[in-house]
Amino acid sequence: MQKISRRDFLKSLGIGTAGVALFEGASAAPALAKENLPDFKLGPFKLKRTKETASVCAYCGCGCGIIVYSENNKVVFIEGDPDNPINEGALCPKGTTISDVSSFVDKKSHQRVPNRQRVTEVLYRAPGGSNWEVKDWDWAISEIAKRVKKTRDESFEEKDEQGVTVNRTQAIAHLGSATIDNEENYLMLKLMRSLGVINLDHCARL
Ligand code: SF4
Repeated sequence: MQKISRRDFLKSLGIGTAGVALFEGASAAPALAKENLPDFKLGPFKLKRTKETASVCAYCGCGCGIIVYSENNKVVFIEGDPDNPINEGALCPKGTTISDVSSFVDKKSHQRVPNRQRVTEVLYRAPGGSNWEVKDWDWAISEIAKRVKKTRDESFEEKDEQGVTVNRTQAIAHLGSATIDNEENYLMLKLMRSLGVINLDHCARL
């Protein structure tokens, strides 16, 4: 195998004299005279006109903080939130690519295009059915309320077999969500407890 020096390696990467001098530490001083500096041309800062929104990664229960950059209500970039005590700016590969949920860079045009696989409507599959039907939110919310009430009314236990007051239903279970914040999970827990639901869980064990 051919041996190459550090200087040869940097040259092979296309780093010119000034770049090599920078890596050389103390010996860089003479090479950094103004006339020796390369003529860097910086493009416009691509996030200059974007709006920053602090959010939480929706993929798992770690709840890493992210900053979402958007322009014209479209997500254009995401990075880890350095102020978040959980991840201090770091993101795993899943979190780094979370903007692909709404749009991704098309391989041919190199432009961001909407992710058409994203589910944006209420889909309902009837018990025993094999097809998904598109429904509106009003229908879905009232249907969920109707079914929760019916199930609770039919299964509510005021006392257990020993006569101890329990005021519970074991016919409903509820899962929290990593995509909502602490306060929303707290409210969800309150709602479920007020219904007597005792089978509760959350992917981060909140
Ligand atoms: S960035 Fe990775 S570890 Fe953090 S919440 Fe998202 S999926 Fe989980």
